[in-house]
Amino acid sequence: MSATFDTVVMVDWSGAGDRGATPRADAIWAGVARDGQADAPVYLRSRAAAEAWLAEVVPAERAVGRRVLLGFDFPFAYPAGTARRITGHDDPRLLWDWFAAAFDALADGEGRFDIAARLNGLFTGDEGPFWFNGLKRDLPGLGKGKPPRQADWPPERRLVETRAPGSFACWQMGGAGAVGSQAMTGMATLSRLRHLWPEAAIWPFDPVGDSPLVIAEVWPSLLSDAVTRRMAEDASLPGAGREGRPIKDAVQVAVLSEALSALCVDGRIDAAFAAAEGTDLAEEGWILGVGVEPELRAAAQPRLRNDCFALPSGVSWTPVDEALTLLRDRLTCVVGTETVPVGAAAGRILAQPHVAARSNPPAANAAVDGYGFAHAALGDAPHRLPLTRGRAAAGGPLEHALPRGEAVRILTGALLPEGVDTVVLEEDTRLEDGAVVFDGAVKPGANTRRAGEDVSVGEVALEGGHALRPPDLALLSALGLAEARVRRRLRVGVLSTGDELAAPGATQDPARTYDANRPMLLALAERWGHAAIDLGHVPDDRAALAHRLDTAGADVILTSGGASAGDEDHVSALLRETGSLTAWRIALKPGRPLALGMWRGMPVFGLPGNPVAAFVCALVFGRPALSVLAGGPWPETRGFVVPAAFEKRKKPGRREYLRARLAPDGRVEVFRSEGSGRISGLSWAEGLVELGDGAAEIRPGDPVTFLPYGLFGL
Ligand code: AMP
Ligand code: MG
Repeated sequence: MSATFDTVVMVDWSGAGDRGATPRADAIWAGVARDGQADAPVYLRSRAAAEAWLAEVVPAERAVGRRVLLGFDFPFAYPAGTARRITGHDDPRLLWDWFAAAFDALADGEGRFDIAARLNGLFTGDEGPFWFNGLKRDLPGLGKGKPPRQADWPPERRLVETRAPGSFACWQMGGAGAVGSQAMTGMATLSRLRHLWPEAAIWPFDPVGDSPLVIAEVWPSLLSDAVTRRMAEDASLPGAGREGRPIKDAVQVAVLSEALSALCVDGRIDAAFAAAEGTDLAEEGWILGVGVEPELRAAAQPRLRNDCFALPSGVSWTPVDEALTLLRDRLTCVVGTETVPVGAAAGRILAQPHVAARSNPPAANAAVDGYGFAHAALGDAPHRLPLTRGRAAAGGPLEHALPRGEAVRILTGALLPEGVDTVVLEEDTRLEDGAVVFDGAVKPGANTRRAGEDVSVGEVALEGGHALRPPDLALLSALGLAEARVRRRLRVGVLSTGDELAAPGATQDPARTYDANRPMLLALAERWGHAAIDLGHVPDDRAALAHRLDTAGADVILTSGGASAGDEDHVSALLRETGSLTAWRIALKPGRPLALGMWRGMPVFGLPGNPVAAFVCALVFGRPALSVLAGGPWPETRGFVVPAAFEKRKKPGRREYLRARLAPDGRVEVFRSEGSGRISGLSWAEGLVELGDGAAEIRPGDPVTFLPYGLFGL
């Protein structure tokens, strides 16, 4: 059997009735994923709505030649022996038909509990294996509690349920987590779908063969960790409830459909079908994914598409902006989240919006040192207000209310005592015989701060994706937040390649080049807030390079050297073997081709070997790409327009970056040589002058764009 699917549709079933128009947790949710990417989950208010939706979506996928895997999260069968008691046959497909007919034949006001009660009559004992009457009225044969098991009843659980810890037995008709009602209503639906789509294979009862539509039982709890993670990480998840909390069922279908689809992309879905076991398979069925839990969980990790660096074909030289747009569109966050103390969170990226735990300021207070009073009690100037006893200071409020017509000594940050709404600045007053005296007009509310005038409690103070700078730590702390939910640091592996490279300090051999890129790239990654991993130097040897990448323990790799298409360009060659390489010929100087590709799900940025080109490409492409992978924003780098202190003629067709710095006269000067071997120019410079893609003739005094290194986070 070779099973792979273009489209994976997952349905989170519900035994309950119509849940109404507003998305609810206990309704039916459906998720669709293609090529390892899930669409927004779909809310289906009732079983009829779900069947109607499926009757539209599944044929639409098939019409465009896509093979569909359709999963439902209810048991497709009962423990061995059950079907025979009810229908006289072991085949669960006949039981599905039986349920469909039984639901059709119900009298008004009857439902699944009546069917369960009736079925219990087929078994020995006062009641029967079905239990939990969820109705207000009593049902003979279906109790509220679990009856004692009789020896001749079928087993409590199917074999597959004994392999799925935490799963519920299908006899329980109600209560938290119960699946009995879903099983019954679901099986009736399976009967209808089977007759609607005779070509469908319902696994494992029908052979999968090359059926264009395979229906299988699934269980989202196999991915509960991934679901929890996704719920915490992705506040923008569709299906969010009224309080903005993602609905678990909606997240489940997205995560499960995406993971199964990812298994298809990686060619590993076969293993899931092969993992079913046991002699009772044809009677009891199996949960797709049980037996391959580690693979399934691995597939639920955030991932990038294997072709995420593909360029449109036929493009010879890609303009810088086009290359950047491609990166921006295709890269996504690949790291999970963690909680850290705010004091240790500088440089970290917020994983979700952070909301004020209290207002700033929490209560009205004094903005200056002076005297507080009630503005309404003032007569005409000059004013003379007797001073009350005591004083109000920050952390030491006045113990009593201020009598009308009096004033109180008040210090900056003190809560305004009852009876005070205005403060006069100390410097504008004088004291006379126990009274404060001042001239001139004071506006009501002067020199005070209103409660919450900065931020009020519950307000979003900082959005998810924000990289925390030192003042942000002040803000979070002022709002009462001791901890921040941040992205785990992106692990950036840095690797140099080339037989000619030697470590600085090694014997002086003019044929050797000292490895200059590695310390530079490691330091850049650290500056940008990532966890840099030194992967050392690998000679021009494909196997050694593959081994180093396999054992990198990184989320993303920056290599330098070997990125071109020459004989010794092993980074390109290796990535080409995985089928994911794109040599980006970017219309950029300095910079030769960038080799971008995926190595076993890990993005690799092959930077040029030349240190000047490696540096410029790291700033222009590496920095924004790493930021997005780390869960941060796409940084826009807008320069300053300043007059040139140089002359330059530039041909059209590529962008150029010149090593530059500001001269004392405020004009920008460029390094004496554009030679790409001149590493000293990078140190001489304090930034880059950016010359656009078109032709240019620059004369001294002409405006040019200067990008100080600081704009690149250096
Ligand atoms: P490549 O991209 O491998 O063809 O290398 C282009 C030039 O950059 C060659 O002169 C290399 O020796 C040099 N180069 C490659 N890697 C490094 C490095 N890590 N440090 C300094 N120079 C390098
Ligand atoms: Mg090389």
